[in-house]
Amino acid sequence: MDRMRELVDILNKYSYEYYVLDEPTVSDKEYDRLYDELVKLEKESGVRLFDSPTRRVGGEPISAFKKHNHIARLYSLDKSTTFDELIAFDNRINSGKKVEYTVEYKFDGLTICLTYVDGKFLCATTRGNGVTGEDVTAQVLTIKSFPLTINAKGTIEVQGEAIMRLSVLDEYNKTADEPLKNARNAVAGAIRNLDPKVTEKRKAEIMFYNVNYSSDIKFSSQIECVEFLRNNGFKVHPFFRVCNGIDDVMSAIKEIENNRKKLNILTDGAVIKVNDFSLRDALGFTDKFPRFAMAYKFDAEEVTTILQDVKWQVGRTGKLTPLGIVSPVELAGATVRKATLNNYGDILRKNIKIGARVLIRRSNEVIPEILGSTEITDNCTEVIKPENCPFCGAKIVEIGANIFCPNIHCRPRIIAKLSNFASKNGVNIDGFSEKTAGQLYDVLGIENYADIYKLNKDDLSRLDGFKALKTDNLLRSIDNSRKVGLSNFIFALGIDNVGKKTAKDLAKRFNTFSDFVNANTDTLVQMEDIGEIVAKSITDFFANRDNLAEIDALFSAGVCVFDETEDKNGVFSGEKVVLTGTLSKYTRDQASKIIEDLGGEIMSSVSKNTTLVLAGENAGSKLDKANALNIKIISETEFDEIIKR
Ligand code: NAD
Repeated sequence: MDRMRELVDILNKYSYEYYVLDEPTVSDKEYDRLYDELVKLEKESGVRLFDSPTRRVGGEPISAFKKHNHIARLYSLDKSTTFDELIAFDNRINSGKKVEYTVEYKFDGLTICLTYVDGKFLCATTRGNGVTGEDVTAQVLTIKSFPLTINAKGTIEVQGEAIMRLSVLDEYNKTADEPLKNARNAVAGAIRNLDPKVTEKRKAEIMFYNVNYSSDIKFSSQIECVEFLRNNGFKVHPFFRVCNGIDDVMSAIKEIENNRKKLNILTDGAVIKVNDFSLRDALGFTDKFPRFAMAYKFDAEEVTTILQDVKWQVGRTGKLTPLGIVSPVELAGATVRKATLNNYGDILRKNIKIGARVLIRRSNEVIPEILGSTEITDNCTEVIKPENCPFCGAKIVEIGANIFCPNIHCRPRIIAKLSNFASKNGVNIDGFSEKTAGQLYDVLGIENYADIYKLNKDDLSRLDGFKALKTDNLLRSIDNSRKVGLSNFIFALGIDNVGKKTAKDLAKRFNTFSDFVNANTDTLVQMEDIGEIVAKSITDFFANRDNLAEIDALFSAGVCVFDETEDKNGVFSGEKVVLTGTLSKYTRDQASKIIEDLGGEIMSSVSKNTTLVLAGENAGSKLDKANALNIKIISETEFDEIIKR
């Protein structure tokens, strides 16, 4: 009982911070862990305290807003995290026959309920405690993407999730005085804000998924319901799967899991719903959620932990980036010990202090990011901004929110620059690691890109671990990297704020390197996804003579940049190619890239769709199959001739 009391009190405090203040102090993962512990104790003891969060939906509406009583109650969703739990859910529902389910994204935002009377929009409200919500009509009216009139008689309440696109959040945070921690808090704070101007600025959207109440129209399935929403101009996400039985549901979930990182919206899982409304009626509701639907939650992406220290790293442009050293914590199957912070300005804006509890999110990057602090105590200390480079001692210079080591010969700076140049997304020198960059700098004093192309066997023999084979391989990879696609070349130059995607966009827009070099700010900002900050990084880069001299030296060393878009219609255009056997001049990766750059598509196995096989030494079963299917086969020598044409 004592533990239950403790859990109820702490969970209610967290719920208040999350639902009412939109300022959670713990991650959802930690909340869910305590919640599950409480559910277990309640089941075991058969006791449920009067104020237990398991009795209620969400949080109380705040008094600053007018209250709205929902015509039909809004529920939460039961949740599962394993396929076994999904199978158990299905077993409770099916009576020996496969059940038809729909699978949708579980949008991580704020529930919004819109009321229409005789086809006219009346008001917008939050879910609140499920019975009473807050009237946020003025705020929601700043969102332009929902209809004010619909084709429906009587009273209708539709439900959707207000969301903020991740790209919009990133853009907002670039200039915000106080960055928003995540898309969910950002949108909740935007809508539950008394000033509709704030809502408008945050560019929220609503994704609709439910007709919650309808006095006149009778729907018979989720499919009909979603069709009605679409036909009436509500935004419905295109991902909507109709599944026959739970096995299909599990495949749809796997599909979401594989793709969700590429989405521009925050999803924390999938929602599985019984399609047929008569079956739904038979199943009914508990006091908190419907028995006919289930949320499947993915591994948490966010967690809180203590920031122990901040170390400064020097990047390829000399920029000093703070790296947070945190108390080890489990996040999505990995132990996190380090997390990035963008710059010193970011530390101040996010109110980060050493010793504070901080919220960490796993993103696509290898190292997760610190989003902000959730708890600061009197024992916390300020993060000190370095005055000198921690590596070479040079006096730090400040440019905008960032600090730089001005010494262009600073070791970590050169190593980061050379490794970025040689990386897969850069000129792609196979076998050139960060360690190699360090050795080249320490032993041979290599600092410039062009010097890489002057390396010979004698030079490399002076490096630790470089025996004949490794030396030959590296020299061959360096030679092969001379012919490089435009987007890879742009990435390789290491222009600040120009990553893989931006490099690709730029290559597509400009086609030739000289057009890109000569692009002015106006032309650059006209491109989608390129703002003033990125445009300035590019124009500043080419205004620097040292950079231009380095590029010239590369061209003199025989580097040749080709236009990928032109070559996409190249010699392998339309070919579906399989590689087999051992190639002598190229690695598999290199040959694949050349084929793709010249318009071909790489396949992993031979089938009747394959149009070409590149066969190296000792090719085995794939070659046999290609022969049997009468598919064209070329040797490495023929391949070489084709690409030189
Ligand atoms: P929930 O957000 O996990 O799931 C229910 C909600 O999902 C619905 O109300 C609806 O708004 C939304 N939803 C999104 N897409 C949907 C779709 N396609 N179809 C139907 N509904 C969809 O449940 P909840 O009750 O709102 O919140 C509970 C969760 O909130 C907890 O599991 C926890 O993760 C989090 N929480 C965190 C804290 C904290 O301090 N970090 C505190 C309280 C709650």
